Amino acid sequence: SLKDRFEKVFSSLRGKGKLTEEDVNLALREVRLALLEADVNYKVVKDFVERVRARATGQDVLSSITPAQQVYAIVFGELLDLMGRDVKPLSISPKPPTVYMMVGLQGSGKTTTAAKIALKMKRSHKPMLVACDLRRPAAVEQLRVLASSIGVPFVGPEEGEIDPVRVARRAMERCSESLVDLVIIDTAGRFQIDEELMEEVRVLKESVKPHEVLLVVDSMTGQEAVSVAQVFNERLGLTGVVLTKLDGDARGGAALTIKAVTGTPVRLAGVGEKVEDLEAFDPNRMAQRILGMGDVVGLLERVQQAASEEDVERLSESLKKNRFTLEDMLIQLRQVQKMGPLEKVIEMLPVPGASKALKDAQVDPKRIKHMEAIILSMTPAERRRPEIIKGSRRRRIAQGSGTSVQMVNQLLHQYEQMKDLMKAFGKGSRKGFRIPQGL
Ligand code: GDP
Ligand code: MG
Repeated sequence: SLKDRFEKVFSSLRGKGKLTEEDVNLALREVRLALLEADVNYKVVKDFVERVRARATGQDVLSSITPAQQVYAIVFGELLDLMGRDVKPLSISPKPPTVYMMVGLQGSGKTTTAAKIALKMKRSHKPMLVACDLRRPAAVEQLRVLASSIGVPFVGPEEGEIDPVRVARRAMERCSESLVDLVIIDTAGRFQIDEELMEEVRVLKESVKPHEVLLVVDSMTGQEAVSVAQVFNERLGLTGVVLTKLDGDARGGAALTIKAVTGTPVRLAGVGEKVEDLEAFDPNRMAQRILGMGDVVGLLERVQQAASEEDVERLSESLKKNRFTLEDMLIQLRQVQKMGPLEKVIEMLPVPGASKALKDAQVDPKRIKHMEAIILSMTPAERRRPEIIKGSRRRRIAQGSGTSVQMVNQLLHQYEQMKDLMKAFGKGSRKGFRIPQGL
C-alpha cells in the first residue's frame, strides 16, 4: 500500500532532522501513482503534488510519529481540502416550495437519485416527484412507480404532452393545495451531451428557478464524469454533484477532479440500487478510498461498536498475518449477531466479490448456537489447523456437539469461504487494500 511504500522511503529517518527534498520527492512519486490509478486528472495530480511538496519539505521530523506518517497526514489533509471538508446539506428555501433539479447523462442515476432524495427528505418535509424526462415514456413510468413505492406525490405529463416546462409549472401550482414544500424535478438525459438537450434543460431551469441544480454522474465513468461536469456547469451552473455507483469498484478519483476543475462540490453519494442507498458525501472516506485503503474507518467503527477491544485486536492481528482460524470464526459468529448483517460491513471494503462470498457463507441466526457448539467441540489444535480435521475427527466432533457430520462439513466449508475473504482483506484487492496501522 501507499503507506508501506512510504515506510520504505523514510526507513532511515526517525525522530530527527528535517524532511529533505529528496525524501519528499520519493514519497510523492508514490502519491502521484496512487492518484493517477484512482483516475484523478493528471493536471490536478500535478498541482496537488506541488502543494504537498511545498508543505512537507523542510518540516521538522516529529518524534511521536514516523516521517512516513507525517507525509501521509499532509497528503490526506490536502485531499480533504481539495474535496472540501464540510459538505453542505441540501438547501431549503425560506419561501416554500424548495425546488431541486436533477440533471445529467442517461443512465447516470438521475431518476433513482431523485427518488432517493425524496425518501430522505420525507422525514422532515413533504416532497413531490416530477417527471420532466418526456423523451422516453419508460422514464416517466419509472419515476411514477418509485414515487408510489416511497409514498410521495407524483406529477407527470398529460396525454401527448411534450413540453417539460408545462409539466413543471403544473407541479408548482399543485404544491399549495397538496401542502408540498419540496419539488424534485427529474430531467431528460442523453448518452452524450448535445445542444438540444442542454437547451431543453436550460429553458426548464430558467422557468422553475431551482434552489439546487444537482448533476448526477456515474463514478464508474472516471474522467468522463469530469468533462460532463465541466460542460453542465458552464451551461447551467451547478450547485452540487451526486456521485453514483460508489458501491462498485471505482476508486472515485472523479470526486477530487470534479471539485478541482469545476469548483462544484460533491454533495451526495449513491451507494446502491435501492432507494435507501444514498449518503451524504464523506470526504474522509473518499480520501481513503482514493489512496487505496478502503473504508477502513467505517469498518473498524462498526466492528468496535459490537466487539470487545480484545477481540478486535485479535481479529486485526489475524488479518495482518493473513491467518484466519476457527477461533477467529467463533469470534466472528458472535459478532455477527451483535453487528447486524455482515454484508453491510463487507460492502464497505473494496474487495471484489466479497459480498457474494459472504452471502454464500451467510449464517442463519438460529444455527449459530450449533456452529458455536461444533467449534467448541474441537481441540485447540483442530481450531488452529482445521486442515487436520478428517473423517474420524469429524464424527467425533459431530457427536461431541450433538450435531451431524453433515453440519460439521458445512461449517468447515463456510470457514474456508471466510478464510478466502479474510485473505482478500489482508493481501488487498487488485487495488491494494491494507489495514492501516497507527495513523
Ligand atoms: P437515469 O437515466 O440518469 O435516470 O438513470 P437511472 O436512475 O434510471 O439509473 C440507471 C441505472 O443505474 C439503474 O439500473 C439504477 O438502478 C442504477 N443506479 C443508480 N444509482 C446507483 C447506485 O448508486 N449504485 C448502483 N449500483 N446502481 C445505481
Ligand atoms: Mg431517468
